[in-house]
Amino acid sequence: MSKLVLLFFTCMKYLRNKWVKIIAVLLIAMSAMALMFAETDKEFLTACFIDIEHGDSILIQADQESLLIDAGLRENVPKVLSTLHSEGIQEITWLLITHEHEDHIGGVPEILKKIPVRHIVHAVRRPEEIMQEVLEIAHEKNIDVIEVYKGDRFPLGNATVRILGPFDDEGDENNRSVICRIIHGDISFLFMGDAEIEEEQDLLASDYEIDSDVLKVGHHGADTSTCRDLIDAVTPQIAVISAAADAAADAPELSTDVVVQRLQEAKMDVYQTSADGDIEIRSDGKNLYLNKQGKKDE
Ligand SMILES: [Zn+2]
Repeated sequence: MSKLVLLFFTCMKYLRNKWVKIIAVLLIAMSAMALMFAETDKEFLTACFIDIEHGDSILIQADQESLLIDAGLRENVPKVLSTLHSEGIQEITWLLITHEHEDHIGGVPEILKKIPVRHIVHAVRRPEEIMQEVLEIAHEKNIDVIEVYKGDRFPLGNATVRILGPFDDEGDENNRSVICRIIHGDISFLFMGDAEIEEEQDLLASDYEIDSDVLKVGHHGADTSTCRDLIDAVTPQIAVISAAADAAADAPELSTDVVVQRLQEAKMDVYQTSADGDIEIRSDGKNLYLNKQGKKDE
């Protein structure tokens, strides 16, 4: 910024014409504003919980880097791609696969074919057909594949991603979900994948810091996750559920009613992609700002 001030006075010294001076002032003012906005933008982290009906896909951006947590079902890839394009993302820095269920990994092969990805992060210990497909495409495209373990961490722009789970490589697929916590200044987000109470108990028994400002609720808000002990330990301001509006019609066990009530009793704001559409949460490292798109058909 000091260079701009110096440039301003140098220009004024040599410019004699009044109109040239005015234009020079305007141009320099616009450059200074652009620089200020660019510097300010670097400070932010945004997490967009993409409304893909049933499944998870969350795009996080911090300081020119991006992290896509899951890519939903294969059929919902156009929605994920449209979000990536509208955000101007030319390359995904990190693509994290929480586990091998179709509503999380199903869209990954198509994403890998459609947009460059720098690193794939996963904790799949026994790859099944869909993960084999992912690994083959990654090999063809020379994408770095990183198998993570609890305790690992990696940078995301000006934030840090800490891997907190899975704890058990043998249990049910949901309970082998990658759990991660993103720390951005004084703000933190906890992403539970589809972890159910079994993995939550392992997390609670661990020494990991889990107190967070935003909780991505486990397993689409089903009552098999998000026990009261977890809520008391995380104490988020905001809880987000990624779920389909009609999920409970086909599978009553996926009803979010019980968990929403539990979260609201704990006095937190609850948002659901099923009702709120895309949900964007922005952090400046100290405060949170929420923007919801709303459902298109409302
Ligand atoms: Zn799921």
